Amino acid sequence: MSSNNIDFAAQCIKDGKVVAFPTETVYGLGANALNPLAVTKIFELKERPSFDPLIVHIADLNQLDELISSPDERVYKLASEFWPGPLTIILKKSKLVPDVVTSGLPTVGIRMPNHSVALELIQKSDCPIAAPSANKFGKISPTTANHVKKSLSNADYILDAGKTTVGIESTIIKLTESGFKILRNGVITKEELEKVLPFDSEPIVEDLAAPGMLKSHYSPKKTFLIANQSTLAIDKSKAGLLSFTGHLDNGFKKVIKMSQNNELREYAVNMFEAMHAFEDDDTIEIIIAEPVKEEGIGIAIMEKLKKAAYNWQGM
Ligand code: AMP
Ligand code: MG
Repeated sequence: MSSNNIDFAAQCIKDGKVVAFPTETVYGLGANALNPLAVTKIFELKERPSFDPLIVHIADLNQLDELISSPDERVYKLASEFWPGPLTIILKKSKLVPDVVTSGLPTVGIRMPNHSVALELIQKSDCPIAAPSANKFGKISPTTANHVKKSLSNADYILDAGKTTVGIESTIIKLTESGFKILRNGVITKEELEKVLPFDSEPIVEDLAAPGMLKSHYSPKKTFLIANQSTLAIDKSKAGLLSFTGHLDNGFKKVIKMSQNNELREYAVNMFEAMHAFEDDDTIEIIIAEPVKEEGIGIAIMEKLKKAAYNWQGM
């Protein structure tokens, strides 16, 4: 079932059901984070391996304290700058957070989404909501309710509020003694974070790495390649292009422009939607994406494109 009834969606969450809902990044598949049985259903529906922990979404800073075990004033500094917004902070969890949410880790990832519907849903559900992206594990992330229906039509409810405005997953950071480390890149960049906390440039050691960060992810079911000299040698008459600068557009069967004004932010917003459109298009056999410079938001965009292309390398 899908519509825009927030009260109904909140009642579903209270009843231990699983609801897909919009955030500013991508659509999430949510359940009461404090109800282990409800959270287990997310893993089942998504076919997500149990070693891949979920992010817990809150609507109010008051919800933070009961979820974490050692309050850290730096979190409040980050929160006042970046929440609500696409920043997930990994913190020591309290006993209240079920192990199934964190895949048995002693830490929990928390964020406050910048989306009025998500915030209202969390408030009305009266609990923090654990939610990964609302797609089957490893596949393209959903930026519309229709994308969710494509792979998770069996969710108890799909709360539809149109297309998401950021389009790619949150930046994930972990606090260390000297500052922060980035576990996953997103539209909140290292440079922005450095205005609040120093960047800890020590290389990330194994136990700091985000579990579930696999080399392949966000992957279309069709051949997906990043444009370069050799991938551009393919037969373009059956290929679709995610175009940024326009320089590569010639000869492709179809071209989807990521941005009208060469803005990386728009590439992020439109990237997954374009992958879905080509995946669903029977006239397209191969999807090619134009790469961008790995600076600022470009780092996050390239991180996603490389993971989407990972299984298709050498094709
Ligand atoms: P998503 O599938 O976009 O909801 O992202 C969830 C990702 O957040 C996981 O795949 C992990 O990489 C990361 N994550 C969540 N919780 C933790 C945690 N406690 N420690 C480290 N990384 C985490
Ligand atoms: Mg995901």
